[in-house]
Amino acid sequence: MSKAIQAVRGMNDVLPDSIGHWQHVERIARDLLHAYGYREIRFPLLEKTELYARSIGELTDIVEKEMYTFEDRNGDSLTLRPEGTAGCVRAGIEHGLLHNQQQRLWYLGPMFRHERPQKGRYRQFHQFGVEALGIPGPDVDAELVLLSARWWRALNLDGLTLEINSLGTPSVRAAYRENLVAYFESRRGELDEDSLRRLHRNPMRVLDSKNPAMQDVVSGAPSLADALDNESRAHFDQLLELLAGANVSFVVNPRLVRGLDYYTRTVFEWTTDRLGAQSTVCAGGRYDGLVEQLGGRPTPAAGFAIGLERLIELLAIQGAASQPHQPELFVAVAQPTAQAAALQLAERMRDAGWRVTCHCGGSSLKSQLKQADRSGARLALLLGEDELARGQVQVKDLRGAGEQWSVAAGELDGFLRERLEQR
Ligand code: ATP
Ligand code: MG
Repeated sequence: MSKAIQAVRGMNDVLPDSIGHWQHVERIARDLLHAYGYREIRFPLLEKTELYARSIGELTDIVEKEMYTFEDRNGDSLTLRPEGTAGCVRAGIEHGLLHNQQQRLWYLGPMFRHERPQKGRYRQFHQFGVEALGIPGPDVDAELVLLSARWWRALNLDGLTLEINSLGTPSVRAAYRENLVAYFESRRGELDEDSLRRLHRNPMRVLDSKNPAMQDVVSGAPSLADALDNESRAHFDQLLELLAGANVSFVVNPRLVRGLDYYTRTVFEWTTDRLGAQSTVCAGGRYDGLVEQLGGRPTPAAGFAIGLERLIELLAIQGAASQPHQPELFVAVAQPTAQAAALQLAERMRDAGWRVTCHCGGSSLKSQLKQADRSGARLALLLGEDELARGQVQVKDLRGAGEQWSVAAGELDGFLRERLEQR
């Protein structure tokens, strides 16, 4: 036997035993998004590298060191998408969805970042992305927050905290940058290598440092809140009022800057203290400059992304129920000569609305009953030559005391419903 090939590090298989949470989350999310009038969009996993360099920013962790970038056979530089906003906006511009229109869009799919794999941080992970394009806010900023808040309620999750901040306009940020550089220069000796490199090119990213040794310098930095322009301040105040009016609790966190360059004004994150270091489940904000930066006309926009692995981990910790997807019935075949009739019986039961697994492959009745037990089904239907001759089916209880009944084929559906209702 040759050596088995393993998955790429940081890229996970989701096995059938744990798919229940995923399907549950996806089902709830789809209903929720449609309830708010958001429509699904799908775009490729691969884009031109330039798309991300131009949108996310050259000096971000993602573009500097996390992207899966390669040359294809034509020598074009392509990148596996590290996030969805850039691709969504690219598609919107390319297909004329953004011109003089409002678009409420969502997408779901894998994203790729070459990070150090650890709990809650993977190299292939999944995001639900939600984007509202063409609406200046703050009303739609509030709608996005309300949608995310309802998402947690729909999943029975509690203990999530909303942190929110405003980054102001590009010119506010330019002025703030200078203050920040002056401050960090005054404490240059305490900066780590990454921060020194960013100090002049992108000092706000120093605030986003994940290095614990940097937290003291970072917490002493001047606050952007003091530097906000009047319009951004009013936008932010109105947003907070809308949220308070809708009974959403929040914490204003002036250090929240987000890891991507394209944000303007509103930024927010939902965090939890139950996931250890990888505590952000959902993150987003306003990105009014991005559409123009990618070659479209100036278009206000806001959105957020939910990390599904973290959300599902949280669901598992909180023991929130996932939807059952086990069969209700298992059809066992006493002799190979009854196999054709068994397949037909299973079809008839599915027609009547049952979830049915039918034994295939031929094995002893004993091993089939073991399979039936493992399948999670509640009742087994046994079919052999005797039953066929008599027009009957044996029904065996797989969960209780193992009772068994002989039931006329024509009365099977009613009998089964009665049995399962009695529990
Ligand atoms: P972090 O600070 O945790 O690195 P980020 O700011 O890079 O997050 P975003 O780009 O805003 O994250 O992505 C939105 C969400 O996607 C995050 O809040 C998180 O839930 C999830 N996410 C991001 N990177 C990963 C990853 N490598 N593995 C799993 N989930 C991730
Ligand atoms: Mg990151």
